[in-house]
Amino acid sequence: MKHHSLLIIGSGPAGYTAAIYAGRAGLEPVIVEGMQPGGQLTITTEVENFPGFPQGIDANQLMMDMRTQAERFGAKIISGTITRTDLSQAPYRLWTDSGDELTADSIIIATGASAKYLGLDDEQKYMGQGVSACATCDGFFYRKKIVAVVGGGDTACEEALYLAGLAAKVYLIVRKPFLRASQIMQQRVVENEKIEILFETNTLGLYGENGVEGAHLIYKKGEDGERKYDLPIDGFFLAIGHRPNSEAFRPWVKTDKTGYIMTEGASPRTGIPGIFAAGDVADPYYRQAVVAAASGAKAAIEAEKYLKSL
Ligand code: NDP
Repeated sequence: MKHHSLLIIGSGPAGYTAAIYAGRAGLEPVIVEGMQPGGQLTITTEVENFPGFPQGIDANQLMMDMRTQAERFGAKIISGTITRTDLSQAPYRLWTDSGDELTADSIIIATGASAKYLGLDDEQKYMGQGVSACATCDGFFYRKKIVAVVGGGDTACEEALYLAGLAAKVYLIVRKPFLRASQIMQQRVVENEKIEILFETNTLGLYGENGVEGAHLIYKKGEDGERKYDLPIDGFFLAIGHRPNSEAFRPWVKTDKTGYIMTEGASPRTGIPGIFAAGDVADPYYRQAVVAAASGAKAAIEAEKYLKSL
């Protein structure tokens, strides 16, 4: 069993930024980096909206730089995924997937969220080559091109509207005969001339030589009508929801019905002394690297205050 003063769970922008701040404050933070070191950004290509990089920056490079910066201030990084916790009293106890036990006086939960995918092999095949789960991150690469967004909720409508401002044409692929999104979002989508809704349609696969060139779709109406066809597109955006990675902490911290950790107001405090949440695991709305980084900074500042008060 190893005891640490401050454990940071997760190695995305929130986790690394928390480590930079905590390291500079002399807290000797330890990051448990999880299954996807660098977090969600590592599945995109170029980041053009992170301030400070006027020419854009390779997403993996950005995350490696954050990691190096955290290590420069003394952060230690260990591998493992936290699968179980006991946050009933301090020192808090955590277990990794390999059964190791860690204890900590303070914890910053920065485990992020994972976009849901349809589960098609082609999604993996074309990841970063036409498949994306973030229009704000990747939409720019589809200026004047043809894209499809999958989903019928508020996120899908928002992504479709965002992409309609850039792309020549946006198809919204909806499996039901109606949208689930709020009325106002539905109205905006319906009124947008660039967006065409394909109701009762599912995706069977994607095709293309060097990236996505189209989608194999199936249109199903009622019991009998069924039609398979190919739709030429340049980009395929998933917007069927996100899953916050909060399972291991859920018995203790408060979450909303989807599992996003609920913090006190705009602070990263979870309500459990010394336990803070930062980044996408506590953010159902913005889901941006720069927002996650900022919340990591807030969490580290709170953790410093808490640890000094002990
Ligand atoms: P939702 O769960 O609301 O919607 C998911 C959509 O994806 C649904 O249309 C669903 O279809 C579809 N879907 C799910 N799985 C599949 C699948 N395997 N194949 C095809 N389609 C699928 O998620 P959102 O991310 O849109 O929203 C999450 C929450 O955040 C909501 O409460 C939403 O209101 C909120 N939000 C609010 C915003 C705002 O106010 N501006 C912006 C974004 C989100 P089906 O309907 O058939 O289940």
